[in-house]
Amino acid sequence: MLCFIKNLLFILLFLVHCNFSSNVKYINLSKNYPDIKWNERTEEATKILSDLLKINTVRGNEIEAVKYIQAILNKEGIKNTLYFDPAFPKRPNLVAELPATTTNPKPGIILANHLDTVEFDSREWNIPPTSGQVANGKIYGRGAIDMKGMAVMELMAFLELKRSGVVRNRNFMFLSLADEESGSKLGGVYLTTKHPEIFKGYEYALNEGGVATRDIVIPKSTIFNIQYAEKGNIWIRAKAKGLSGHGSTPPKEYAILTLIKFFDEVRKLNNDIEITTETESFFYQLGTISNFPNSLFLKNAKNPIIKLLLTGTISNNRHLTAMTTNTKSITGIKTTEGEEGENVISGEAFGKMDIRTLPGLNQEMFIQKIEIIAKKYSIDIIITDKNTADFSPIDNAFFQTLASVSVSKFPNSTVTPFLSPGKTDNSYLRRVGIKSYGLIPAILYSEDIDTMHGKNENISIENLRLGSTIIFETLFEMNTFKN
Ligand SMILES: [Zn+2]
Repeated sequence: MLCFIKNLLFILLFLVHCNFSSNVKYINLSKNYPDIKWNERTEEATKILSDLLKINTVRGNEIEAVKYIQAILNKEGIKNTLYFDPAFPKRPNLVAELPATTTNPKPGIILANHLDTVEFDSREWNIPPTSGQVANGKIYGRGAIDMKGMAVMELMAFLELKRSGVVRNRNFMFLSLADEESGSKLGGVYLTTKHPEIFKGYEYALNEGGVATRDIVIPKSTIFNIQYAEKGNIWIRAKAKGLSGHGSTPPKEYAILTLIKFFDEVRKLNNDIEITTETESFFYQLGTISNFPNSLFLKNAKNPIIKLLLTGTISNNRHLTAMTTNTKSITGIKTTEGEEGENVISGEAFGKMDIRTLPGLNQEMFIQKIEIIAKKYSIDIIITDKNTADFSPIDNAFFQTLASVSVSKFPNSTVTPFLSPGKTDNSYLRRVGIKSYGLIPAILYSEDIDTMHGKNENISIENLRLGSTIIFETLFEMNTFKN
């Protein structure tokens, strides 16, 4: 009987299935690459990364890393300029350009990265985090993946455009940004607001924001998750007032109780799973490397019946949930009483909430709904930060070339358009009209991903080479025949 129902379900699914095909498209590559001694280049890249990891750039001191890269650029005769907030000369942004060698060049391409890192606790590390040590085919140090490693991949590809002597039909920019880990005020924000002229004539950027994964989500799979969009955010601070009193005889309403009720109602706003065209493509692409029947489900995620079946899987996975819903995290609650006094009802309660919104959500209307709830509970709210979601289209030569070069490296690999819940500098580049995509082209296992912002961060030499070649080949293909 169960088997019969299952068969019936499949027939039904076939009948209703809407024949969606992904909007991730691959192209034919010329593969007419110059002969590059990648063994030697990888040795050079390993040395550069190791040296950069020895320079401590925890939320500052980018100047030392910039000077190191400038020395390489100057030796190669590549023009470069520093841009910085005059009050913070030790936190510069580096802009290096290789101009087109032909007249009427096609729009330019930017290779963006950031040179600051997050902090570390040396006691947790097996290898000192600023030693740049190379061991077991890996290079260790804070920033090895996020994102000095990618900066080096980009630098190698950028240098190769010069060294190989190819005719350049586009302008190419190597861009090292400051201050990404602490909000980009001196980096992405500074450069795009104070010096937007730098970006004139450029159309595309490659930066962080997505990674390639192996053995995650689908066993043995290789998935290049290319970030094309970032969620928006609304940050709230809330303050509730009420009767203070003894914990043994509570009034019906009091400050912390209304605060909890307020947050709980906000959590229920616009809470449905939403599958956009890009998210649909994300699932579809996973379907292309899955076995039946998962392949069928994933390729038809937007089908109402399948969406219903996928709901359980999505809501049990916080990453999928973040990609498909407007998330709301209560990030703090406190009262004036602090730690003491289990038996005291506080007259005031304070709370914080971090809301992350999907592309397409009308934030103004959403905030109005929050204000109505706040009024209902007599809660004062302040919006402390607010940014709308941003995205770049995926139906263009750059995305398709990057996707095609990436999957050409591994059989049974795929590309997914990735909506990242967190912010990167892509959001600022998108604001000045640059179509920006996030991919650290290194194949990472789950344990590698954990080292980012964690202990023992490292990148394999093999990945350093892979990333350098993927970026170079993408630039080369775009240079030769793409619009
Ligand atoms: Zn980063």
